[in-house]
Amino acid sequence: MSKIDSLPPYGIAYGSLPQGRHTFRFEVNDGFFRRFEGSEISEGHVSVRVDAEKAGSFMALAVGMEGSVKVACDRCLDEFFAPVAFEGTLTVSFTGEAEQDGFAEDEVMHLQPGDTEVDLAQYLYESICLSLPMQRLHPNDEQGRSTCNKDMLAKLHELQQEARRVKEENSPWSKLAAAAQRAGSTPK
Ligand SMILES: [Zn+2]
Repeated sequence: MSKIDSLPPYGIAYGSLPQGRHTFRFEVNDGFFRRFEGSEISEGHVSVRVDAEKAGSFMALAVGMEGSVKVACDRCLDEFFAPVAFEGTLTVSFTGEAEQDGFAEDEVMHLQPGDTEVDLAQYLYESICLSLPMQRLHPNDEQGRSTCNKDMLAKLHELQQEARRVKEENSPWSKLAAAAQRAGSTPK
């Protein structure tokens, strides 16, 4: 069994699917995120429900996802589980024509007439990433206090102070001031 074969499938066998409505369920797990190089998500568990309607050479999908994924906190850099809640629609077109089907480009997956399977892995991954907030922060506890890693925050604060000090020392003004001091006069 190759590495790819051992991964859970996130595909719909379109070719053998009768016309009409169908429901599919998928479970996204840690292995799923490892498929995507450079993924900001290291772990996670998300339940996926896909309501599909096949009609001619199109298939309309309503996708709902719920779960949580592990991401790094923007404030303290520690990882935490952020909730995922996503509702979206996707049209799969089997006409092989990208221009003439009249759908908004970002919600359409274009496949060739001979294709028999719809692989949803990339769509699911991108939708999970999109559903995460722009700023990822540890949630506050019941008392409204940050649950960030305090030791880490203290260390980061120290590093910031150090970076600021180095920057100030290397600024043209402080160099000028140092040169003036060496020359025996202090600039006003
Ligand atoms: Zn944090």
